Amino acid sequence: MYAQASKTPTSTSDVLKIKETFPALNANKIDQVNSIVNGKSQQKPWIQSTTKGPSRKHIIIPMSSDNTTSFMKNSSLHVANINRDLCNAKTDVLVNYIRSNSSGIIIITNKVGQQSDLSIIDNYIKNSNDVNALQVENSQLPMSKSYLKIIGIPFFPHSNSMEKLTSSDVETILKQNHIFDNISLASKPRVIKVSPKSDMAIVWIDIWDVQSGKNAKVLINRCFNVGNHIATIRGANMNPGVPQCKNCWKWGHSTFSCRIQGAKCVKCNGPHKSEHHREFGWCCKANFKANPPRLETKKGEPCPHSFKCLNCKGDHQADSNTCLFWRHRFHKEWHIKKYAEIRENRSTSIRSGANSSKDQ
Ligand SMILES: [Zn+2]
Ligand SMILES: [Zn+2]
Ligand SMILES: [Zn+2]
Ligand SMILES: [Zn+2]
Repeated sequence: MYAQASKTPTSTSDVLKIKETFPALNANKIDQVNSIVNGKSQQKPWIQSTTKGPSRKHIIIPMSSDNTTSFMKNSSLHVANINRDLCNAKTDVLVNYIRSNSSGIIIITNKVGQQSDLSIIDNYIKNSNDVNALQVENSQLPMSKSYLKIIGIPFFPHSNSMEKLTSSDVETILKQNHIFDNISLASKPRVIKVSPKSDMAIVWIDIWDVQSGKNAKVLINRCFNVGNHIATIRGANMNPGVPQCKNCWKWGHSTFSCRIQGAKCVKCNGPHKSEHHREFGWCCKANFKANPPRLETKKGEPCPHSFKCLNCKGDHQADSNTCLFWRHRFHKEWHIKKYAEIRENRSTSIRSGANSSKDQ
């Protein structure tokens, strides 16, 4: 659809008209005038930081994870109720289904919702018995994402310890700062050190935005306090990077376009959601035949076992920022090459029999 717009052929009669009106113009200038007349002026300055989002038929409602869990328990009832409210308001938008992710719920509709539809949905959700309305934000259409980075925050924020800055620390910092009041993060902030020997951090954040990049424009070049430091927000080089699916944890496609049925666990890659790993993961079940025999993980305790990353086989979870795949998340070519290598290795080991597979 977008390719079509940019391919609009220049009409010969337009060019002739411009030539008649401004006989002194050369071909280049005529071209420029023609693109201005036809609305094809230069690229918007923020196009670099802002990309088109997954689908405008998604309505995102950020809320706490407790709220998300209790709301999703009655999801089919909520779909029916919201659709009843929408019908009563005589709009032709209907909810197909509701899904959840780490930042709240996502309502999938049959058409792009309008502000009036969002208000109906907000109203329904905030009055629902399943949620604590104080922990629900207003719904939004995920039209675009903007990519920003924050500099000037220390990598070791606690003066008396070497504890690293985490993405939850960053979330707390952002929540305390009024300039982020109307901003919703599209994913967890990513924290890296400026350089191996530096004690300062670069924090990457993606925010929900509209295609004009309105939300990013408000933030770019703003400063804010973090303890006795002053942090600055910059537009990030708009390489959205290689997406990692939060459903199957493979790289190269987004969660919204994942084709596998159900969810996979980030820890053991088993067919369960990551938050249910303790209950469903094989490693946390008692197995006296294993060597050494394994006891059941105690109720309420996190899984103490470690796993090979399903992508790089390293000693971490598939979404870890120590993963080679994560470190190369802005290098599309690296990802393509790596997956090709993995495929190649797999077919070689299948050809040479399944006995020599422990090398890499
Ligand atoms: Zn996937
Ligand atoms: Zn698991
Ligand atoms: Zn376990
Ligand atoms: Zn890995």
